[in-house]
Amino acid sequence: MNYDYIIIGAGIGGLSAGLNLAFNHKKVLVLEKNSLPGGLVTTFKRGRFEFDASLYDLMDYGSDTHIGSMKRILKKYNLEIETLPIPYNIRIKSIDNHFDEVIKGQIDDWILHLEELNSGSISTFRNLLPILKEIHEALLALKKGKKNFEKDFPNFIKYLDKSAYEALLDLNLPTNTIHILGYLWIEIGSPLNKLNFIDFAECMYKYIFKRPVALLNKNVDLSLKLAKRLEELGGKIYYRSYVSEIKDEDNDKVVVLKDGTSYRAKEIICNVSENYVIKNLIKNNYILLNQKENARTLSMNCFVVYLGLNQSYQDLKLYNYRYYQFQNINSMANIKTMNHFYHHTIEAIVPNIVNESASPKNTTILILKTLYNGDVWKNITKENYYKTKELLANALIEEFEQAFHIDIKEYIEEIEIASPFTFARSVNTVNGCQFGPMRLGYDNSIHRILSYECESIPNLSFVGASSLFGSGVDNSFYSGYYITEKLLEKESRLKDE
Ligand SMILES: Cc1cc2nc3c(=O)[nH]c(=O)nc-3n(C[C@H](O)[C@H](O)[C@H](O)COP(=O)(O)OP(=O)(O)OC[C@H]3O[C@@H](n4cnc5c(N)ncnc54)[C@H](O)[C@@H]3O)c2cc1C
Repeated sequence: MNYDYIIIGAGIGGLSAGLNLAFNHKKVLVLEKNSLPGGLVTTFKRGRFEFDASLYDLMDYGSDTHIGSMKRILKKYNLEIETLPIPYNIRIKSIDNHFDEVIKGQIDDWILHLEELNSGSISTFRNLLPILKEIHEALLALKKGKKNFEKDFPNFIKYLDKSAYEALLDLNLPTNTIHILGYLWIEIGSPLNKLNFIDFAECMYKYIFKRPVALLNKNVDLSLKLAKRLEELGGKIYYRSYVSEIKDEDNDKVVVLKDGTSYRAKEIICNVSENYVIKNLIKNNYILLNQKENARTLSMNCFVVYLGLNQSYQDLKLYNYRYYQFQNINSMANIKTMNHFYHHTIEAIVPNIVNESASPKNTTILILKTLYNGDVWKNITKENYYKTKELLANALIEEFEQAFHIDIKEYIEEIEIASPFTFARSVNTVNGCQFGPMRLGYDNSIHRILSYECESIPNLSFVGASSLFGSGVDNSFYSGYYITEKLLEKESRLKDE
């Protein structure tokens, strides 16, 4: 059977692409190598704990009053997700700067707190808010293909090619306030002097105006819900279907599975990165490999320790939703420390603060994460892999205990460790990098949107973290929608010609 579209991978980007195409009555087949949909947005059980692998803060879903794009698109398919608002409740610590602060409350409390720390924050921060709104509106206009930006969006033009650091300095934010804001976004994977201001501003807009939410249910429930609706709309998903090759035959694209089965379509949509596809699925294409594979800088990969603790978060004194420890408050300086195997950057999440029922009564889930800039894990051998994982997990737990004076070791009931190799193997990301290529310099979202048509490989599109809008479930979901809208437009244009 021939399909209109074949999608490789049922991660959030692939599911979103499939939903839009099936909704538009296209013959869609999704091929997924694993047994469940969702890719990184999945859940695993250990003892009495159910751990969500990745999604803790969902941006751009919004609420009934501040509806986000993901909520709006899902509504089209008659889908809704049950969510809980995430409070601003973050503890940030920096070793070099002797800085240890909790940023909490509503945005106004936040700004007051920043003012206490660095005078001049209130007025400059307030000036920044309309610029964030303008940039958000300019991006919407750009996605709709509008032109004429100079008149309607002067700040968008002014800051288009500036780094976040340059732009925030230009807007007169006190340097330390800039660094604190950089802290909040460092997990995107780029220091402020490299991260494009438009990408920074859009992320901040969503954070402040749409507010992040958490899922009331587990990660896997979201993925299963999207997959179920895709099938109700007539799309097909074949699980345990590992794609090993994409080739051209008689004006069709042919997708070959590891077991030799093949499927045909006019267009292939990949929910995996360009790097992976060009290196592994398109055979003998050295020109593409040279042009594409090495042209982008991958963002961070991470090492995660999932802990099930046998005490309530109140008894453990885990009062904050997120904890960050950095070596240095300056993201540019901090990122350099993340080239080393052992460093002091920690990010921790306590899902129970938002959702009491994230784990059984009187227990807590604590997720500890550290990030790596580059392929720091390349020297780990098969022989020392398990020992290294264990040593690093212990070091991370001790570092967290010392940083925040919170005892956790004696309360650990369940532990699961995921290295960059774990992520690489489970979803086929390059070097375990789950955040896609960094959005910086020549490769920010604007350049990606503007060059989408002229740089694309014929009949091969990409959705997900390494697509146009960068990582994060909201961006992966949106990319699936945006790219398929473009493909549907192209189809109807060709029909009209
Ligand atoms: C620890 C952690 C915490 C995170 N926290 C958050 C958060 O709080 N908020 C947030 O928004 N984001 C978060 N993220 C990022 C987010 O999870 C990802 O950006 C997003 O899920 C990526 O989605 P994707 O569409 O790119 O697909 P992926 O999840 O990468 O899925 C790709 C799919 O393709 C399949 N596949 C790959 N190769 C093949 C093949 N050859 N044949 C068939 N199928 C194949 C894979 O099995 C997988 O199902 C986090 C990530 C991690 C690791």
